[in-house]
Amino acid sequence: MEKNAKPRAIIHLDMDCFYAAIEVRDRPSLRGKPVGVGGARDRRGVLTTCNYEARKFGVRSAMPTFMALQRCPNLIVLPTRFDVYRREAAVIRGILHRFTSLIEPLSLDEAYLDVTEHPGAPGPLAQVIRGTIFRKTKLTSSAGIGPNKLIAKIASEINKPNGQFEVTPEQVPEFMEKLPVRKISGIGEKTERKLEELGVKTCGQLQRFSRSDLLEFCGPAISP
Ligand SMILES: [Mg+2]
Repeated sequence: MEKNAKPRAIIHLDMDCFYAAIEVRDRPSLRGKPVGVGGARDRRGVLTTCNYEARKFGVRSAMPTFMALQRCPNLIVLPTRFDVYRREAAVIRGILHRFTSLIEPLSLDEAYLDVTEHPGAPGPLAQVIRGTIFRKTKLTSSAGIGPNKLIAKIASEINKPNGQFEVTPEQVPEFMEKLPVRKISGIGEKTERKLEELGVKTCGQLQRFSRSDLLEFCGPAISP
């Protein structure tokens, strides 16, 4: 951050198991049941999304449908309806535009909002945005609030589903100190294992190494 510059306020807004949530909303008889959306088992399909009831059984998105059904035999698997999901996403996008024009969509159900110039405080603002989306669509979402996209995205996972978490600029050093390195996008299993050899598990521990030390140890994959 530049000296004296006003910190940015970024909200990462993420709909909760978007496709599955839409299906359950549109078919109330599915409420409370494990539901997945994706390809059928007999066509070697893969799940695109599943709801939290299904996740309790270890079902995950991108899992082959036959495997999901092994873990959760009562799983209801529905075909995707992308026309409906896109329509819903457009309604949500319209709501977001009421609060800021600085929107960076990541997918149909996820976006960064820069609300630095909004007169409202970002935490309460995220509450209002999520409440407005719920009133309009009957779908829940989660939000992370932080001074940059990286932190906002990590924060939106913390109180998911139907919750939010804010990291204020003052809280950033403490937040990063304890944050597992794996939470940083781009650090996968391989780099995580390499860093563990150095005794590095958190971003705080990572910060104690110089960039050139890390480059030497991990190779250019970790360079900026
Ligand atoms: Mg989502």
